[in-house]
Amino acid sequence: MNNAQTLLKLQTIKSTIAKSKVEVNRINVILADKSKNAAFSEEFESISHNISDLENKFSQIDAEKSQLQQKNRLNEAKLYSGNVVNPKELIDIEKDISLNKKRIESLETEEAGILSQLDSRTNAFSEKESEFKEFGSNQVTKFSELNYSITELSKTIAELEQHASDLMATLSPQLLAEFDELMVTKKGLAVAVIRDDCCGVCGSDISLNVRLSARSNATITNCPSCRRILIAE
Ligand SMILES: [Zn+2]
Repeated sequence: MNNAQTLLKLQTIKSTIAKSKVEVNRINVILADKSKNAAFSEEFESISHNISDLENKFSQIDAEKSQLQQKNRLNEAKLYSGNVVNPKELIDIEKDISLNKKRIESLETEEAGILSQLDSRTNAFSEKESEFKEFGSNQVTKFSELNYSITELSKTIAELEQHASDLMATLSPQLLAEFDELMVTKKGLAVAVIRDDCCGVCGSDISLNVRLSARSNATITNCPSCRRILIAE
């Protein structure tokens, strides 16, 4: 392998390392993403608030109902006690009883409505709960797969970095500096293979002299147009 070929190999390795690192970052972003959990917490909280509001409302109504029922028990006791004989007073007590009964009926209708809402909210809560459980167990599987991928990618990266540094050890510092500079300015494509007498990257015609020079192992030849390091076909 001549120097240019070594550089091409190095370029391929560096590109694979870069891609693997991007993949590791992508996975780390997924692993760090807690937005789904936060969304679940929010939903749980909202349903719980809803339920406790409804429960409060129910107990308020129930308290009012008990009061009215208690009142009516007293009214009825009074009515049938024989102690009240004034007709006006008797009529007033009867009126009061009937008004209270109407109010109790309407409170009971309200209670029934709240109970059915509570029922649906409680169901919604348990549905969310099972959804969350399923999400959690899927998450565990997914995360262990992702963690495994990261371990594998890290191994690959370490191996490739070792391979790259072995290759770099065979090259002169000047050549490495030129390569590194081209890797930056040419966005990871520092080396070009000559194809059909043209630079494989920029497409410029490559003269016979330059082609011959690229073929020799003694020197490094650059594309006259894009400056990339040329490799004979
Ligand atoms: Zn070129």
